[in-house]
Amino acid sequence: MPECIFCRIVAGSIPCTKLYEDAHVLSFLDIGPISPGHTLLVPKRHYGAIMEMPAGEVAALFKPVAALAAAVKTAVGAEGINVLQNNGPTAGQVVPHLHIHLIPRWPDDGLGFRWPAREADAAVLARQAEAIRVLLKV
Ligand code: AMP
Ligand code: ZN
Repeated sequence: MPECIFCRIVAGSIPCTKLYEDAHVLSFLDIGPISPGHTLLVPKRHYGAIMEMPAGEVAALFKPVAALAAAVKTAVGAEGINVLQNNGPTAGQVVPHLHIHLIPRWPDDGLGFRWPAREADAAVLARQAEAIRVLLKV
């Protein structure tokens, strides 16, 4: 019996409110919704973070996102929807099985989503971009 709660849901040993399933992914309603229709999409194979996932599996994970977002948004009558994916506790990840949140939004729903922007120094941006480019393996 796997310890991971989402592996258990995938295995069928813990119930979920299923929305969609294919060979690679499972989607179900979040048990602690931040808004009505809050949906999760998880890969059936356990990965902790998106950086650990082969590109083909990332593609299979994201394939149903647009259709799910459209169906969820219309079904609950939302005006917008956040697609969010947290990697690591510092980024807000609590369940250590990679997952995508789809969070329907309404005006004045109190959730907010403006992060404080800071002014960037062009030289710092150039250095950061170079550091990223040398590491990037697509
Ligand atoms: P995160 O903070 O990105 O790790 O989000 C984890 C999400 O999983 C939270 O929104 C939880 O409400 C949700 N969650 C935890 N356990 C279950 C469960 N058994 N069924 C559905 N959603 C769950
Ligand atoms: Zn898992």
